[in-house]
Amino acid sequence: MRLRLCAALFAALTTVVLAADKPQFGSWGFDGTGMDVHTKPGNDFFRYVNGAWLDRTKIPPDKPAWSLRLAMTDRIESRLHDLMESAAKKNETADIEGKVGAFYHAFMDEERIETLGAKPLAPELDSVRAAKTRDDLAGVMGRSTVDFENSIFNVSTDIDLKDPKRYAVYLSQGGLGLPDRDYYLQPQFAAAKAAYQAYVAKILHLIDWPDADARAKDVVDFETRLADASWTKAQDRDVQATYNPVDVADLAKLAPGFDWTAFLQNASLGAQKRVIVAEKSAFPKLAGVYAAAPVETLKAWQAYHIADAAAPYLSRAFTAAWFDMHDKTLAGQQQEEVRWKRAVHRVAGGDCGAAPGDCFGTLNWAAGQLYTAQYFPPSAKAKIEDLVAHLKAAYRKRLENNDWMSPATKAEALKKLDTYNIKLGYPDHPRDYSHVAIAGDDLVGDVRNAAAADWAFYVNRLPGPVDRSDWSMTPQTNDAYNGSLRDIVFPAGILQPPVFDPNADPAINYGAIGGIIGHEMTHGFDDQGRKIDAQGALRDWWTPEDAKKFEARAKELGAQYSAFEPLPGVHVNGALTMGENIADLGGLTLALDAYHQSLNGKPAPVLDGFSGDQRVFLGWAQAWRGKVSDDFVKRQVVSDPHSPRQFRVNGVVRNIDAWYGAFRVAPGDRLYVAPKDRVKIW
Ligand SMILES: [Zn+2]
Repeated sequence: MRLRLCAALFAALTTVVLAADKPQFGSWGFDGTGMDVHTKPGNDFFRYVNGAWLDRTKIPPDKPAWSLRLAMTDRIESRLHDLMESAAKKNETADIEGKVGAFYHAFMDEERIETLGAKPLAPELDSVRAAKTRDDLAGVMGRSTVDFENSIFNVSTDIDLKDPKRYAVYLSQGGLGLPDRDYYLQPQFAAAKAAYQAYVAKILHLIDWPDADARAKDVVDFETRLADASWTKAQDRDVQATYNPVDVADLAKLAPGFDWTAFLQNASLGAQKRVIVAEKSAFPKLAGVYAAAPVETLKAWQAYHIADAAAPYLSRAFTAAWFDMHDKTLAGQQQEEVRWKRAVHRVAGGDCGAAPGDCFGTLNWAAGQLYTAQYFPPSAKAKIEDLVAHLKAAYRKRLENNDWMSPATKAEALKKLDTYNIKLGYPDHPRDYSHVAIAGDDLVGDVRNAAAADWAFYVNRLPGPVDRSDWSMTPQTNDAYNGSLRDIVFPAGILQPPVFDPNADPAINYGAIGGIIGHEMTHGFDDQGRKIDAQGALRDWWTPEDAKKFEARAKELGAQYSAFEPLPGVHVNGALTMGENIADLGGLTLALDAYHQSLNGKPAPVLDGFSGDQRVFLGWAQAWRGKVSDDFVKRQVVSDPHSPRQFRVNGVVRNIDAWYGAFRVAPGDRLYVAPKDRVKIW
């Protein structure tokens, strides 16, 4: 089926590519009308490149932010929409196109969904009502991998970080309905927490749970105790500290009071002998909070979470309440997205590695196959491959000339660089969906079936061997990642303008996608990457001397970022964003080198008065063109390891010498950093 689809679409695709041989922005890939030429580049480079666009652009009411990157997402969504609309017309479910179409149809059938109310959740809620003991409820939690249930411990599978030739089961802290433990514990989030309690009550009322208001308070109190016992996000970023192998038989000793056997049994992991525990010191505390909670509280907690997870698939009363809490109160989004967009997200999924919830109960890989068959031309792939080769060579040279790594560490780094696998567009092996039952008239059932099939896929491959060609982000995702398989993955979704435009001036592409690919490459060698060696095993391959020198430089960069203030009194957290800031700085540095190298000794052309170096910086800054709501920023600085976008530009360029020459930046300019204080890591 897939081959036929590719062949059928090939003619149409060729026409599209030939017709669209002009860059999307301006005449060489840059939208000069977005600049604010009255701002000095040295005072605010982000504004210099993007100021007119910032002034004229309003954040759409249904979004917490707007940017060129988000416009890319819109483009992907409307393409998926077209694909799904035509797939839904097929009216059969034998192949992936038919299944995607039927799932989409089930989501769009609002009339039917409205008549059902909370009825589709009867099986899950009945099992909670039937539970008598905490042990029964631990068993219910085991179903969190295949159905709408939640758990105070998350379970997942991945390669074993210390033995990358096999897979392992990972357990981590969970159970919170708000985005981070800070929301429960810090006074600045008191309003959000109060709104959350009201939301829990509303959901419990909607499913007719007894004593909804009193139970809602119990649920939030319970989660507050879990939050208090949980590790912080900064602690969670430490891959050594979060690698703690435990024999399944010893789980009851590590975290008594929780029925691990019932839990693992229901997660289809009853045969596992060994698991890897992330927040080890939190586990006994979380189990203690659980063991001390009244059964009635735990039942209400589970019932609430089932209905919360399923709310987007239920009637209007549920979807409206869900939107109000999750998108509006927590993310600042003013209007709910139209139904077809929600349908596209719920059928096609997103980044399964970073946000597993985004892929839960979706036909994500099937949708990805349909998408790339139509929208990822081989000519674009060839251009990206060429750019990646230059970036890799540039990084090799940087590592060879690195002035803080010891010779032994340097040799390890070069070895590691050679083992990196750069994946572009879509996975080599399509996922098999032939056994997944999807019906056009049973939305909640479709979600359950898709979730169960996905979890079965990961459980079944646990015995190995490890598939190094695997992806954990779908092809239609507008993002990229550096994975535990020593891979750097750039889905088709991110390979479009302004991040990458096959018809743009190469300098713009080097600044944009080159900087982003460089960013991901350096992650393999940074404060986390140094803990994974060339064989892919968790092992610190640096000497203590290297670490000391690196940390001193990282600290200087952290101090620069901590001084940034996106809103009055709201500061960037230099420690939380450290890894990402170092990667941004390394990425753009490499992109500039790679661009120089790609010129093969010829001078760069001048376009509309801009030099090659200038265009690389313009390309980077244009790729970050965007604006966000104040609520979004407040949430971002506490929970997101990436800095707000203006600092991903301004915080980076001020540490690169070539930027000073390119834009005549001088002492007295606000972004000016004296040469001796510029941080150089890669
Ligand atoms: Zn990153």
